Amino acid sequence: MSLLVVGSIALDSVETPFGSTADALGGSAVFFSCAACLLQPVQMVGVVGQDYPFDALQRLAERGVDLTGVERRPGESFRWKGKYSYDLQNRETLDTRLGVFAEFVPRIPEAFREARYVFLGNIDPELQLGVLDQVRQASFVACDTMNYWINGKRDVLLELLRHIDLLMVNDAEARELSGDWNVYRAARWILERGPRMVVIKQGVYGAVLVNDGRVFYVPAFPLEEVFDPTGAGDAFAGGFMGHLARTDDQSPANLRRAMVYGAAMGSFAVERFSTQRFDEIGAAEVTARVREFGDLVQFDIGPGHER
Ligand code: AMP
Repeated sequence: MSLLVVGSIALDSVETPFGSTADALGGSAVFFSCAACLLQPVQMVGVVGQDYPFDALQRLAERGVDLTGVERRPGESFRWKGKYSYDLQNRETLDTRLGVFAEFVPRIPEAFREARYVFLGNIDPELQLGVLDQVRQASFVACDTMNYWINGKRDVLLELLRHIDLLMVNDAEARELSGDWNVYRAARWILERGPRMVVIKQGVYGAVLVNDGRVFYVPAFPLEEVFDPTGAGDAFAGGFMGHLARTDDQSPANLRRAMVYGAAMGSFAVERFSTQRFDEIGAAEVTARVREFGDLVQFDIGPGHER
């Protein structure tokens, strides 16, 4: 089934305790697509300036990402600069230069308007609503956001929640949106405002899916080497949505599988700087890691307690 992503296409400069990058490939639509295209072709919508290394994006096209919806406009590309703490748990935004992203109004190409699975990356919720006006038959819409919009455009964001199936946010965003520090109460608060389900990502502590009064937890993959957490959330979304679109199955069991594909892709994202790890892996590595998740959480309740 067709899979559409709308989001930022950035040049990231990142500092971690293990090194740094400058003007590397980044942005929510890029990380999402790098992960999702390992599972399912992707239709990407975003904007870049004339300084963007378009040949790097072209490599994504070779892997099944349709770039018809990527506009090239006069001006500078969106640039984001961040620095991570020693334990990689916190990051500080050092600089955000919007460039052509400031004027971004997503125009969904005619050929993408039939998309059945849609991911709205972190952009202005008014623009996210504008995307939904252009897609005709989405059967599953997922959406990300950030504290900037939670505080600055709360009413529009609440309106958006009424039109989506899944809100995928991190724990800090869930707390900020709901005003509740407990992530499970925050999830319930969000579900009462429209979405059928919510995914709350908790970085190194994994992620939870809450829907129909049930909670499913997927751990973060136990990696000994983590270089750059940037894009883990978007790669998670790419794995989750890529699996759902590929299978076109929204059953509870398959949503749980999608969570594991999400966690697997998130774990690949952090193993190298920028999107580099996705240049090295293919379907076999993805399947192998998903299998390893099986081992990670499988347990036997012991004699006398089986159902
Ligand atoms: P994540 O680590 O999953 O939260 O995503 C990080 C990505 O989001 C980076 O590649 C940034 O380029 C991008 N990003 C950072 N700030 C913004 C913003 N204000 N709007 C859109 N994308 C952003």
